[in-house]
Amino acid sequence: MQRPILLSTPHMSGREQVYVKEAFDTNWISPLGANVTAMEEQIKAYTNANAACLTSSGTAAIHLALRLLEVGVGDTVFCASFTFIASANPIKYLGADIVFIDSEPETWNMSPQALARALRDAKEQNKLPKAVIVVHLYGQSAKMDEIVAICKQYGVPVIEDAAESLGSTYKGQQTGTFGDFGIYSFNGNKIITTSGGGALVAKDPAMIEKAVFLATQAREQAPYYQHEEIGYNYRMSNVSAGIGRGQMEVLAERVAARQDVYQYYERHLGDVDGITMMPKLSDTMSNHWLTAITLDVKDLHLSPYVVMAKMKAANIETRLLWKPLHLQPVFADVIFYFHDTRQQAVCEQLFEKGICLPSGSNLTEMELQYVSETLCHVLGEELNVAVV
Ligand SMILES: *Cc1c(COP(=O)(O)O)cnc(C)c1O
Repeated sequence: MQRPILLSTPHMSGREQVYVKEAFDTNWISPLGANVTAMEEQIKAYTNANAACLTSSGTAAIHLALRLLEVGVGDTVFCASFTFIASANPIKYLGADIVFIDSEPETWNMSPQALARALRDAKEQNKLPKAVIVVHLYGQSAKMDEIVAICKQYGVPVIEDAAESLGSTYKGQQTGTFGDFGIYSFNGNKIITTSGGGALVAKDPAMIEKAVFLATQAREQAPYYQHEEIGYNYRMSNVSAGIGRGQMEVLAERVAARQDVYQYYERHLGDVDGITMMPKLSDTMSNHWLTAITLDVKDLHLSPYVVMAKMKAANIETRLLWKPLHLQPVFADVIFYFHDTRQQAVCEQLFEKGICLPSGSNLTEMELQYVSETLCHVLGEELNVAVV
């Protein structure tokens, strides 16, 4: 194999250049402009969100959601531990404290049991969080009915980090639209990309109006530059949104292609000794942004590090699952709630045995075959038995 097989790469449709050219032709290169408005409409139409605004990144969208919920110094925000650090960083930008919540084994996402315990304790201490950040990892939706119900019971707003799950559904409804806020990412490795960017969606359109205001330096309406609040420079540019417009047109195809990738791996690896596919919760439809598997580390003594290194030697990029944030040195003093207090944290167990496989929508069947065969070969070597 000549070209390295990467985890997830941009996949252009060709139409992106039409919209980018439009931006150039009209000399509309700055933030705002026809592409921004059009892509916001596409996001609303696809996800059924009430209101949407484009941002310079998914991280910026989380930051804005927390600001709109008036998170500040002395406040607490609950966040899934099993995620990319961008889910939690904006909590610290605002000087608030974090409480990390474990995963449950059926979706790998936030454990409703751990969340319920954490909220009960917080209520007792008169320190309910200002928000709960739920993540839909690798495209798999969290258990939204349970999570939304628990948060409602305590009157705590929900922010959905749907950076990885654009196009995924839970009981037919798009992820990102269950909470008070949802965020998407269009970073280069996500299911669709604007080279870099994100979106904030909200139940309340007034919140999105305020988000746009904050994202454009909080400039008040006045004949001069008048500022009464601290804002940010967080809007997406009209050029990036041109890429996004072309990408939104093929989002459904990209979702279908990644689902095909997952199914290919499931067919060829699902029954292989030592491999377990990431579970799928019934009544959910994952965009399968990345296909993740776990290796039977305990009984077969497989090491995900060794497997990753051997795959790399064969020119195939794999990646360990996210290292839980409560294990990150930068968050060493953060409180963590276990799914089951009698057991090792679920997210720690997953981190010890899981890897992500190349999952791009532009992978060919030959490449998928090569990845599957190489993985079987590597596991065979590791297990010292013949695997065909
Ligand atoms: C990619 C990602 C983000 C951040 O999005 P950016 O657009 O890169 O800022 C946040 N959360 C999760 C879970 C992600 O995977």
